[in-house]
Amino acid sequence: MAGSRSDSQTLVARGSKLSALALYFPYMSGVPQSNPQPAAQKTFYLETFGCQMNVHDSEKVVGTLLQEGYRQVETVEQADLVLYNTCSIRDKAEQKVFNRLSDYKKYKAQGKTFGVLGCVAQQEGEKIFERAPYVSLVAGSASYRKLPEMLRQLEEAEGKGASSTAISSATEGEGFSTTTGGAPPFAVFEGWESMLPAASDSSTGNFPEKPKGKLVAQTRGSGLTTRDSAKTSSRKPVADSLVRITGLDDRETDKCFETEFTARTNPHRGYITIIEGCDKFCSYCVVPYTRGKERSRTSQSVLAEARQMADLGYTEIQLLGQNVNSYKDSEGNSAKRKTFAELLAAVGEVPGIRRVRFMTSHPRDFGRDIVDALDAVPTLCDHVHLPVQSGSTRMLDAMQRLYTREQYLERIAWMKSAKREISITTDMIVGFPGETETDFAETLSLLDEVGYDAVFAFKYSPRPNTPSIKLEDAIPDEEKARRLDVLMARQREIQIKRYKRYIGTTCEVMVEGKNEARGQYTARTTHNKTLNFTAPPSANPKAGSYAKILVTASFPNSLAGELVV
Ligand code: SF4
Repeated sequence: MAGSRSDSQTLVARGSKLSALALYFPYMSGVPQSNPQPAAQKTFYLETFGCQMNVHDSEKVVGTLLQEGYRQVETVEQADLVLYNTCSIRDKAEQKVFNRLSDYKKYKAQGKTFGVLGCVAQQEGEKIFERAPYVSLVAGSASYRKLPEMLRQLEEAEGKGASSTAISSATEGEGFSTTTGGAPPFAVFEGWESMLPAASDSSTGNFPEKPKGKLVAQTRGSGLTTRDSAKTSSRKPVADSLVRITGLDDRETDKCFETEFTARTNPHRGYITIIEGCDKFCSYCVVPYTRGKERSRTSQSVLAEARQMADLGYTEIQLLGQNVNSYKDSEGNSAKRKTFAELLAAVGEVPGIRRVRFMTSHPRDFGRDIVDALDAVPTLCDHVHLPVQSGSTRMLDAMQRLYTREQYLERIAWMKSAKREISITTDMIVGFPGETETDFAETLSLLDEVGYDAVFAFKYSPRPNTPSIKLEDAIPDEEKARRLDVLMARQREIQIKRYKRYIGTTCEVMVEGKNEARGQYTARTTHNKTLNFTAPPSANPKAGSYAKILVTASFPNSLAGELVV
């Protein structure tokens, strides 16, 4: 699979499939179950691609829309509003988004409204309006907390709502602010078309100087926005009388997308975002430019959400962030602030919660105190995903990963000295510019030295506007493919041995469902391994329940066993 991913893209990208969540089942955290969805007139369809962060963002977007009176439907044809939550991590992601948008074009004549959300929305910005003029809303993830305002503006603009609010220029330092009079109905800003810093900015980890949001033009009479062609002469003109709502100017915000309205897709296991954005600026990664700077929620807010989930019957929580290890509690009372390890432990101690996972860790910020927390709190799962990307310090330096092979191995040693066995998984990139056979051999030797339980490996491919795009991508694709094959073959041998060790042991699992065709239940261990098992008909374990399984067989990527009755 081509593509250079951020650290946190791992598990959903597994198996080369992007997640496409079209319909959410509303296990609502904040929206009452009695929310009058069936009577709602406005309908929406949401399609999601990308990592766990995108999946969870979509859960919050869905909750917000339901709260705003929308009803979710299963197909584009049924929807008034069609939203597309995009991922920019894969090779040619932008082109894939535009191809998908062109599929939507035929529905515009039916009066449907289209919005593009997520990383490609942030990356491409107003170019989306130019290439897909039937799109009315473009918003990056840093602007999602303004979604209710944007939706109301959209409705007003399209004559579907009665709101009198209006969008003004970015005089408050936030690109999307609401005023109540004298302001235009919505705004389009100049200066964000690249949305990316010069290489010199990114290489030092700084954001570009914030462009001044500038209102290009607006009209009131029709309720529709047009753009002043004289001021946009360097760009392709967009069609007049098309609605343009943007949420692109928030990447330097200190605020997170916190909402009490989250439509989780699973009633037993759920995500909580604790930190958004990333300040690491790895040389191949678009995330800092698309998701903005790091900002953390307060530990009190995270814990309140965890308690609420426990009250709703959730037993497993996964704490999410591009880099959870750099979590900085924004709690106002400094005496109450928690480190990431303390927050992890506190979530693990919430009554009713039986499993806590976290994703993703950056080795630079991975402290010994996290292993101490794993030792102290039994509900914290025996699994750490610690992306390394390369076994060569020279390559790590070129990738701007901010640690050496030796420092990475020091963190591995901490985990291996833990009181219980911790399953370790990682991400690897092969064929990064300048990677020699010697560098690649060091990556292979790291596999042997660590003994990973899973490796998510990818061929390097340059992403637009990242610093590494300036490096000569001289390794031919065939050679990258060869290295990927060699790496995966070596890892497969390692996994076969590692998984075999479980035969004869008893594992506790959370049941995920039943594969009727195979007559097996699917489940997950605390090590995050898939364990398929059989059970007598009388047992009939339910999804979300916990069970003890005797492991009887192993495979390179899964275990099999029998229910212990
Ligand atoms: S820049 Fe941030 S999100 Fe991207 S790979 Fe580096 S740590 Fe991960």
